[in-house]
Parts: sequence; structure tokens; C-alpha cells
Amino acid sequence: KAKEAGRARMTLYDPSMDADREQRNALELDLRIAIESGDLTLAYQPLVDAGTHALTGVEALVRWNRPGHGPVSPELFIPIAETSGLIESLGLFVLRKACETAKQWPELNVSVNVSPGQFRNPAFTDYVRYVLKQTEIEASRITLEITEGYMIQNPQRTRQSIERLKGLGVKVALDDFGSGFSSIGYLRQFGFDRIKIDRSLVMGVNEDKRQREMLQATVALARSLDIPVTAEGIETEGQAVAMRLFGCDCLQGYLFGKPLTAERITEMLDELRTAEQSTRRRLGAA
Ligand code: C2E
Ligand code: MG
Ligand code: MG
Ligand code: MG
Repeated sequence: KAKEAGRARMTLYDPSMDADREQRNALELDLRIAIESGDLTLAYQPLVDAGTHALTGVEALVRWNRPGHGPVSPELFIPIAETSGLIESLGLFVLRKACETAKQWPELNVSVNVSPGQFRNPAFTDYVRYVLKQTEIEASRITLEITEGYMIQNPQRTRQSIERLKGLGVKVALDDFGSGFSSIGYLRQFGFDRIKIDRSLVMGVNEDKRQREMLQATVALARSLDIPVTAEGIETEGQAVAMRLFGCDCLQGYLFGKPLTAERITEMLDELRTAEQSTRRRLGAA
């Protein structure tokens, strides 16, 4: 197979490239239709307090069930949305939907991913302001998660954008920290309200000594700058315990819950409220 690929690169005409492009175009067209006809949905993954494991928030994650193909990963279609000019309408849909839905959950914080293409748009702050106003959500319950890709190219503009967003009252988090090139030095400079340690780093916490030390140092440094830290991709008790010991105040991962439907989150909150009420009654009666 590798040999084949090598040979293909040598020829000027490669029919498999046409096939790839065709597939991509078809995907792009279907995505466009999905956005226009409102066929994208959001899943919500629990965020829990590292000490008590109580539900404190959710992260909104876009989902696309492509007709005739089944679910497509956002890791695949977000980059396509970015390069085909669809990211703006996709991002607007996600933000609006997440803010609308968050109104049913007054006790939760809601995180929304923002891709570099959205963030780069000078009008981004305006449309965040618009959505906040339109949905009448308390801005302080919304966290926008941005990745480092764009920041490094444009530190100056990034800092200004973050400042303007924070001026609206929303929180801004650095997502996937440790997965790329971000330097600790950026953390203070940009004024992030939170950093999220990437799953790829968290994964090895109980296996690889060097990785553990790096992770520990990263969390310690963020904390010395007074920036709270979330660990993502927690799948085992061991990882949860370690990340809490290192100083993460918030945890996210399959151990605490996979991305769920909004209905399921509402049910969970109802169950929690009921349990709390009955405990309160019992204690009152005792
Ligand atoms: P992310 O923002 O870092 O989101 C976390 C991803 O890790 C999600 O994948 C989530 O399902 C997955 N995950 C969480 N806990 C665990 C775990 O314990 N184990 C494993 N194996 N995975 C876990 P998902 O939903 O496939 O999203 C992938 C990425 O796509 C996101 O990474 C984010 O960068 C992007 N994305 C998702 N939704 C949106 C969106 O609405 N807008 C934008 N711009 N990007 C999005
Ligand atoms: Mg995220
Ligand atoms: Mg992340
Ligand atoms: Mg990630």
C-alpha cells in the first residue's frame, strides 16, 4: 500500500485524487444542506467538580448524522467547514443552540467550541453579543473554548479578541492544551479564564513517568498564574485521582459521562434535584 502511494505521487495524473476530491465535494455539499436544513444537532458532555464529581457544566459538541452514511466525526467535517466558508453558519448555529438550551439548565455552565475560522472573523464578537442578547442567557455561564492554532500566528489580534469577548462577560478557555505548540508563556499574556489539558496528555498519566512529570508541571504552572485547569478524556478512576491531585478543579471524560442528548442532561438534573430534595427532607425529619 505504501509502495502504491509512493508510485502514485510520481505520476502527474492520479485518478485516486479525483476520487478523493469528489468525495470531499459531496461531503461539503451534504454539510451545506445539513446546516441549511437544521440537521446538525448538539450533544452535551458532563463536566464535573474534581473533588466531589458533582455536575457543574457541559460541553456542547456538534453532531452530524449524514444521510446514507451515518455519523461523521466533527474532527472530519469542522476542517471542511473551515475551508469551504461554512464555518460561520455552522458556528452560529452551535452557539445559538447551546445558549438557547442552556436556559433550561440554570445551574450549569455551558462550554462552546470556537474554531479558528470563527475566531479570526472580526465580526465574531458582534455575533456573540447578538446571540447572548437574543437568547437572554447570562453571559457568565458561557465559556468559549478556543484552540491554539491561530493564536501563535496572530498573538496581538488574539489578545484583543479575547479581551473583547471577556468584555461581553463570557469566559474564554484554551482547549487541547499540550497537544500542539502552545507555550506556557502564552497563558498569562492572553488572559484565559481556564485551560483544558488535552486527552492525549491525560491518557498516559499513570503509565509514563516523564509524561506525568510534564503534566504535573503544566498544571502547577497554570495554577501559579491562578488559571483553573480542566482535564479532558478521563476514562479511569486512576486518571481522575491523579489529575485532581495535580490540581485540576474540573474533570471531563467517559468515566463521568459521554456526550449526551439535551433531554438526557435535563433528566439527570431532575434526578439530582429529586435526590437532593429527599435528602434534605430526611435530614429535616431527623
Ligand atoms: P474537543 O473540544 O477537545 O472535545 C472533546 C472531544 O473528546 C469530543 O470529541 C469528546 O467526545 C471526546 N472525549 C471526551 N471525553 C473522552 C474520553 O474519555 N475518551 C475519549 N476517547 N474521547 C473523549 P468529538 O465530539 O468527536 O469532537 C472532536 C473535536 O471536534 C472537539 O474536540 C472539537 O475540537 C471539535 N468540535 C466538536 N464540536 C464542535 C463545534 O461545535 N464547533 C467547533 N468549532 N468544533 C467542534
Ligand atoms: Mg472543546
Ligand atoms: Mg478539548
Ligand atoms: Mg481535544
